[in-house]
Amino acid sequence: MVEANSFYQVAKNEIFGRFIVASKNIKQGQLILKENPVLLCPQVGGPIICFNCCAQLKKLFFCPDCRIAVLCNPNCKNQFHNLQECTALKSLPIKHDDVLSNPEIVTPLRCLLWRQFNKNQLENFLQLEAHLNFRRDSQIWRRNRVNIEDVLFKLKILDESDLKEEVVQKICGILDINTFDVRQPQRNRLGFNQAENLRGLYLRAALMAHDCVANTHLAVDDDFVLYVHAAVDIPEGSPIYFNYTDVLQGNDERKRRLLNAKHFECQCSRCRDSTEFGTEMSSLKCPRCHKGLLRPNPWQCSSCQRIFHDSLIKMTVTECRRRIDEFETPTIENLEKFLKKLSFTFHPQHYLVLEVEQNLVRLYAQAAPRTKNLNRKIELCIKLLDIFQKIEPGISRIQAIAMYELHSAVASLAQKCYNNREFGIEEFVKKLLTAENILKNSIKYLLYEPMKSPEGRLAQNALSELKMLRLSINNIQLGEKKKETRKPKKKK
Ligand SMILES: [Zn+2]
Ligand SMILES: [Zn+2]
Ligand SMILES: [Zn+2]
Ligand SMILES: [Zn+2]
Repeated sequence: MVEANSFYQVAKNEIFGRFIVASKNIKQGQLILKENPVLLCPQVGGPIICFNCCAQLKKLFFCPDCRIAVLCNPNCKNQFHNLQECTALKSLPIKHDDVLSNPEIVTPLRCLLWRQFNKNQLENFLQLEAHLNFRRDSQIWRRNRVNIEDVLFKLKILDESDLKEEVVQKICGILDINTFDVRQPQRNRLGFNQAENLRGLYLRAALMAHDCVANTHLAVDDDFVLYVHAAVDIPEGSPIYFNYTDVLQGNDERKRRLLNAKHFECQCSRCRDSTEFGTEMSSLKCPRCHKGLLRPNPWQCSSCQRIFHDSLIKMTVTECRRRIDEFETPTIENLEKFLKKLSFTFHPQHYLVLEVEQNLVRLYAQAAPRTKNLNRKIELCIKLLDIFQKIEPGISRIQAIAMYELHSAVASLAQKCYNNREFGIEEFVKKLLTAENILKNSIKYLLYEPMKSPEGRLAQNALSELKMLRLSINNIQLGEKKKETRKPKKKK
């Protein structure tokens, strides 16, 4: 199924099933894969989206041709609801009411339509991992049976043999396990929360194995095109990994998510290391001796040796999580206060602490550029960057954004101190050069983001800021030189 490509080939083993490996040495930054999705669908239980452009629906329209496909406007066409799908839908004994009253049938139905016009794609799709044995008779299995299988059978889209072959369960399993979360591009200016996350199915990228330390950098642009770059050098024969989970979560949290969603237990280098590369992102302070650290698992104090029950740790983490989520309009003051409280219980680099600190960086970025605020923002960015480099080495979005924030605080602080005559022009230039360097490093990573994406737009902003910064450094230096050449004249 995967065409001979110069960078990877398909391999197979017990742990990963089918997966792709580097077919030659791949250099950091190399584009390994660029792929269009064969399917975009809402999250499980999500609302129906436009069949064609995948936008959320403000008003309902139906395709003027098949009268079944739901569209965001009657003229939306030629993207995902193409002529072939339209014709296939038209041939079915269903009406649009059947679709509207059973929104969960939409995605499996669209996969089943491939039987009529794209058998090859269906075959490739059905080869992907579905973990049927793991899912059989689970809650999600029963839900799929009632909400999808039974409905499609009654509508005569499925026959007895489809039921016997568990076609719907297979389709749902494959989608749950192999899709990537993609963002709906912003079509309005209402802000970030408006965008509903979608799931995108990419047949080739789905063959990448998971590792909590990815060797690739993934990005999806506003047209849902997926780009996979090598985040680090990848030697020939090495699997090409992506990180399915959130790199900013601790070991337990990631494990739970992987088990739920992908049905496997990760054995990567980070998951096997209770210190998580020395970051201590899951470590708590011992509530008894207040000296040692508790690391998973067992949660034994490194100093007094006492072992704490797993449920106690879980409760502590859950309670903290709840309190973080409770902040509706967080302010610098209340988050800083909350951080102090956390410091009694958690290691200063615990992932929950880091999450609060990242929120703080965002708030400081919007706050008045007071010296105190800028210094604190710099301190936080440096701390976070150090950790990000350990957990996401190589080309990294979180590193790029932290560096971007760091540069802006360094530059603002330099300007402020210079204006206040806290240091002279030489020191001012030195600080601006530091900011320039940090910004250049940020841009180096941001340039792997597709142009048509929020990060790609940040890259464009960063580039123009770099130009401005360079210009002001040049001007200051030029001004200095002029002064120097003027000085001797004055003496005469
Ligand atoms: Zn549309
Ligand atoms: Zn149609
Ligand atoms: Zn792992
Ligand atoms: Zn202890």
